[in-house]
Amino acid sequence: MTTISPKHLYDILLDDFGPQHWWPIDKQYHQDQKSDPRFEIMIGAILTQNTAWTNVEKALHNLKKQKALTIHAIMHTEEESLKIMIQPSGFFNQKAGRLKLFSAYIHKEYQDDLQKFFSRNTAEIRTELRSLKGIGPETADSILLYAGNHPVFVVDSYTKRICQRLPFEVINDSYDDIQHFFDHELQCIVPKKELVSTYQEFHALLVELAKRYCWKKNPSCNRCGLTNLCEKLL
Ligand code: SF4
Repeated sequence: MTTISPKHLYDILLDDFGPQHWWPIDKQYHQDQKSDPRFEIMIGAILTQNTAWTNVEKALHNLKKQKALTIHAIMHTEEESLKIMIQPSGFFNQKAGRLKLFSAYIHKEYQDDLQKFFSRNTAEIRTELRSLKGIGPETADSILLYAGNHPVFVVDSYTKRICQRLPFEVINDSYDDIQHFFDHELQCIVPKKELVSTYQEFHALLVELAKRYCWKKNPSCNRCGLTNLCEKLL
């Protein structure tokens, strides 16, 4: 069977969809609030668990409207009020508690200094993030890649679905195996200084591919540009 390399897929998707410029942040808000935009990514990564990004956008909008998208504000906002603001993201009881714990942790251990938090070894930060309540591998890696600019490949359910359908040489669909596969393949050919931007763009492109054509049980192969490469059709 013909196989496809991750870099080949990346090039095709970038060509088809163009740069996705993920992760979106509201720079103006953070300029006005004198807050760290990386915190918006960290909060977004927690809010996006088990929900669509459109719902997260509504929750972030509510937080911004109440000027509550800073470490200090989340720590000092009543949990009940926080729940109302983030309600659109679903699981708001659970997520409000997680946001408060997370903010309190960054405040206590790093005095709100995200530069200090991210200026360490990738594995060390990942282990620390994973030890916090409600932070799984995908959330930790999203925070590392998009807020911390650490070269970590993010695996989500979209990536898993695409790996099942495209002829990659990865057999297992465990988080670690898929991540290891992409890491290994990309680190061999992508120059080190381009690794973070490639990972950031690649994850966003895979999400776009899934959302446009490939997520559904019956994918829209007739509209997808990958039909020639796709295992399903070989
Ligand atoms: S051709 Fe079909 S199965 Fe393959 S990536 Fe595209 S949508 Fe998914």
